[in-house]
Amino acid sequence: MPLYEYHCADCGQDFTLLQSVNTDKSKTTCEHCGSGNVQPHISSCVGKVQGAPRAGVKPVTPDDYPNKDIFKLPKPRHISEIF
Ligand SMILES: [Zn+2]
Repeated sequence: MPLYEYHCADCGQDFTLLQSVNTDKSKTTCEHCGSGNVQPHISSCVGKVQGAPRAGVKPVTPDDYPNKDIFKLPKPRHISEIF
């Protein structure tokens, strides 16, 4: 389940909730004062991601190639090695 950040317009607190994607976000209430006047904190999430290494992204390895036979091909030779 993804984490959603909210900002409460009534008490000014920020809080994070673990919510299902199917949860009705308009029914979310502030965990500090119980107010329903909360806004999802989307812009701050985007700002944190920018420029930071993304978790779960691994470097490309030979296993990522669908056709591994290309690694068995002979290395390209210079024309002077052939003639
Ligand atoms: Zn609040």
